[in-house]
Amino acid sequence: MASNDYYRILGVPRNAGPDEIKSAYRKLAMKHHPDRNQGNTESESVFKEINEAYEVLSTPEKRQVYDQFGADGLKAGAGGGRGGFQGADLGDMFGDLFENLFSQGQGGGRGKPRSRRGADLKEEVEITLEEAFSGVKVPLTIERTEVCGECEGTGARGKSGIKKCPTCHGTGRVQYSQGFFAFSQACPDCGGQGEIISSPCKACAGAGRQKKSAPLNIKIPAGVEEGAVLRVSGGGDAGLRGGDSGDLYIQVRLRHHSHFERHGRDLVYDCQVAVWQAALGGETDVPVIDGGRVKIKIPQGTQHGKVFRVHERGMPSPGGKVRGDLLVRVKLEVPHDLTPRQRELFEELAKIAGHETAPEDKDKGFFKKILG
Ligand SMILES: [Zn+2]
Ligand SMILES: [Zn+2]
Repeated sequence: MASNDYYRILGVPRNAGPDEIKSAYRKLAMKHHPDRNQGNTESESVFKEINEAYEVLSTPEKRQVYDQFGADGLKAGAGGGRGGFQGADLGDMFGDLFENLFSQGQGGGRGKPRSRRGADLKEEVEITLEEAFSGVKVPLTIERTEVCGECEGTGARGKSGIKKCPTCHGTGRVQYSQGFFAFSQACPDCGGQGEIISSPCKACAGAGRQKKSAPLNIKIPAGVEEGAVLRVSGGGDAGLRGGDSGDLYIQVRLRHHSHFERHGRDLVYDCQVAVWQAALGGETDVPVIDGGRVKIKIPQGTQHGKVFRVHERGMPSPGGKVRGDLLVRVKLEVPHDLTPRQRELFEELAKIAGHETAPEDKDKGFFKKILG
């Protein structure tokens, strides 16, 4: 038999107060707890010793007897009170000590129904640039888990379908003992809920939730960017046992536009300008994203690639307060085929500029071959 000096076992002085004893005990119990020292028989016997010591020193009558008569005095029942060791008080004390140790892996509170948040869902919608410009409501049907309408999530058929768990008598926790140590853990039969379903709901077979197709109308704000993710709070799967619903995330994709290229808030439009128009100057009109067209001036001598800015005819900022610009980029258009009159004029131009012109047929054939 190991030492019976309980003060020495707990490492406290003989005049230690209850708090000091409790704190010393907790530290040692943590250190030598069987779960942390599996297969270590020495730790196991130390664990028993410190529990024995604590049981005595934390109970005033026993401590008094122990101080007067020593451990033998207690064993003989000299105190006249409860002889030996009883698990009950110890169990309560362990109750909250082991709660901390055990709850780490279980995620459950003491006897409370363990609710769980529903899963987040992700969907994608594709919209046009015009829709991104003005904002749009997109109809979308998603598959998600919803709270069963029949049982309102309880999983039971009516109120009588739920019964108090017979294993834990509704507390959600069970105690078991090993030697004289009492342990407490979530009830394995009801999963810590304290109740069981005796008659499951027909609609959801007791799950409390059901897969459903949910038709939604997703509001996409004006100015949305390609790849933007919108969050619909609570739009995901329903939670379990009254837990919050998850969220629905919607990623916005912009369809390619035939006219406009988007650069942040600005839109770029490639404008075909005839050679003579670029040389002489003039006016043309270009489409705008909000419908219709807008006139722009082509100054004489405009070069290929020149960009004209039309203020505030681009995309709105998210929220719509500021608007970007429309950038009109000049693409010089060289005629593919010339009428005889046009050819005459171009030849004259060339002559003035001092260029030698090629005979028509030969070159035309050659370029046709290359350029298609
Ligand atoms: Zn149901
Ligand atoms: Zn139970």
